[in-house]
This record gives sequence, structure tokens and C-alpha cells, in this order.
Amino acid sequence: MKKLKERIIKDGVILPGDILKVDSFLNHQLDPELLMEIALHFKEKFKHIDANKIVTIEASGIAPAVMLGYVMKLPVVFIKKKVPSTMQNMLVRDVRSFTKQRIYTVSISADYLTQDDRVIFIDDFLAYGNAARGVIDLCAQSGSTIEAMGFIIEKGFQGGGDELRHEGYEVVSLAIVDRIEDSKVIFRETDD
Ligand code: 5GP
Repeated sequence: MKKLKERIIKDGVILPGDILKVDSFLNHQLDPELLMEIALHFKEKFKHIDANKIVTIEASGIAPAVMLGYVMKLPVVFIKKKVPSTMQNMLVRDVRSFTKQRIYTVSISADYLTQDDRVIFIDDFLAYGNAARGVIDLCAQSGSTIEAMGFIIEKGFQGGGDELRHEGYEVVSLAIVDRIEDSKVIFRETDD
């Protein structure tokens, strides 16, 4: 997605450890117009997918997931990054955090992810694929199916996306970073 790539080049900041900071439009301040265009792009890419639910992970996945849920007219559920003490019937799984370098426990209520669900998973970033693996496991626990996954930014050089594609998952990323050179982002060639 050309406009997204231009925005990453204009506003993205490279931090040590191959972290791309996009706080000015995605991870802290939000640009609703860009997010709506992102949602419309995902909708077009997923037009052949028969999903009935969007699933994401708090916090940064929620805004783009809600936009996509709105344009696709589908409900959105976000996976929690802890296990709430007040909730019962939770499906739980440990995930390694790329940015924080620690393990955290994610959870989702079995009331909102069931064997009747055909899921599109949305997240802000795809790096090594640990978060995606966690979601795959939660979907397996619930008996739901993952029909497709959509990421706004994929860091291709960290390999998670290609592994998932190789395993047969439909993975759509709107901007794939091929490498970071001299603090500059270089994108993988894609057809759009
Ligand atoms: P993965 O689980 O695929 O290794 O990493 C994806 C998760 O880590 C995303 O949910 C995202 O929050 C975070 N993440 C990974 N790389 C980056 C990055 O370069 N920048 C930001 N802002 N978040 C990242």
C-alpha cells in the first residue's frame, strides 16, 4: 500500500534492535483517515474470505481491527494481554513479546471465540510470528478456524510471515520491510 509505505518513510523512526517506531500514526497517536484506507485495502484483499469475526490483540491492533470490522460489518474481539481475575471461561496461552523481550500470557473468553467462528486475525506488526502463533493456538483451543491474517507492517527479514505462508496460512501485509539499512527502511517489492 503506497500511501502507508510513504508514511512509514516520512514518520517511522528506527530504534536499536530492528524496532520500527510508528507512534505518530499507529502505535500512539492514530490517523483515522489512514486507518480507514488500511481497512478498505484489507477488505479488498479479503473479499474472497468467508469470515464471521475479526480477532486482534490489545492494544495497537484494536484501532485497525475496529475499522476493518466496520467496513466488513463483522464483530471484533480483542485478545487480552493478561488473564482478568473477574472473568471465567478464558482460553489462555503464553506468548514471547518481541519488543519487551519477555513472556506474557494472553487470553480470550471462550464466549467470544467458538467452534462456529471463522476468523480474520489483524495486528499492527508481524515480526517473528510469536503473537500470530499464540492466536493460532487460541483458535485451535476454541475450535474456530483462521481464514486469513492481516498485518499493517511486516518485518520480512524476521521471517515470521514467510513461515506462516509456507505453512499455508493466508497472510496479507500492507507494507513488508525487506531490510533496514543505515537507519532506512527498504521495502520488499510487491504488486501494489
Ligand atoms: P511477533 O510476535 O510477530 O514476533 O511480533 C509482533 C508483535 O510485536 C506485534 O504485536 C507488535 O506489537 C510487536 N512488534 C514487533 N516488532 C515491532 C516493531 O518493529 N515496532 C513495533 N512498534 N512493534 C513491534
